[in-house]
Amino acid sequence: MEKITLIEAKNLSTQANTLHAFLGRTGGISPPPFSSLNVGFHVGDRRANVEENLRTIEERLGFNMERAVIPRQVHGDHIVHIKNTGMCGAGIYSADALVTDLRGVALCILTADCVPIILVDRGGRVAAIIHAGWRGTLKSIATKTIKKLKALYGIEPEELVCAVGPAIGGCCYRVDATLIEGFSTAFRGSPGVDRRASSLDLKSINCWQIEKEGVKDIEVIDTCTACNVDSFFSHRKEGTTGRQLNVVMLRG
Ligand SMILES: [Zn+2]
Repeated sequence: MEKITLIEAKNLSTQANTLHAFLGRTGGISPPPFSSLNVGFHVGDRRANVEENLRTIEERLGFNMERAVIPRQVHGDHIVHIKNTGMCGAGIYSADALVTDLRGVALCILTADCVPIILVDRGGRVAAIIHAGWRGTLKSIATKTIKKLKALYGIEPEELVCAVGPAIGGCCYRVDATLIEGFSTAFRGSPGVDRRASSLDLKSINCWQIEKEGVKDIEVIDTCTACNVDSFFSHRKEGTTGRQLNVVMLRG
């Protein structure tokens, strides 16, 4: 079997008591077009394959899937506060961001081009994970998550460490003129909105939002999912395909 594609951000790896990973598509058992480490139950793959893939990831990363939260992602800006382990499970909550201060609870989101964003504070007290496609980015879901961490836990943006994972790059993400206009108006001065090429770089736009909130330590994984379909699922490039897992957990 192929090895698992697993990317870690340097700035998060040095945080004590934090487990995180941006996974790719290799090392699982699903057949095409979900080959092979698909973790999406909703894409048409067999349930047993997805469950086996999740077990493989569990073993590799050393966390318990029964203590994981995988939301039903709806391209909105709803943030769910995970307050107790009774809230763990897959597809229970509709949300595109999760925040917690619970130890040993894995916050997960699935992607295939959309931007996965992880935030933890330097004191290791809180963790957040965000799924930002164009709709979530336009709704400033990253900005709202940072504000939520402050409102719920009193964490200042300066205390946060942020990593932006593999996602579709400006090289491959052409959109229509209306959307370009929408982004130019909403995020005046942000990089990542290219009128001439009619393309969006969602990673840059999210970074701009995050920086603007006052987060200084941001690491961007500069990998385009659509340029690298050997290693990552890309909905834009492939159409029907799988989803890769992105995860953060505060260790107990
Ligand atoms: Zn690309």
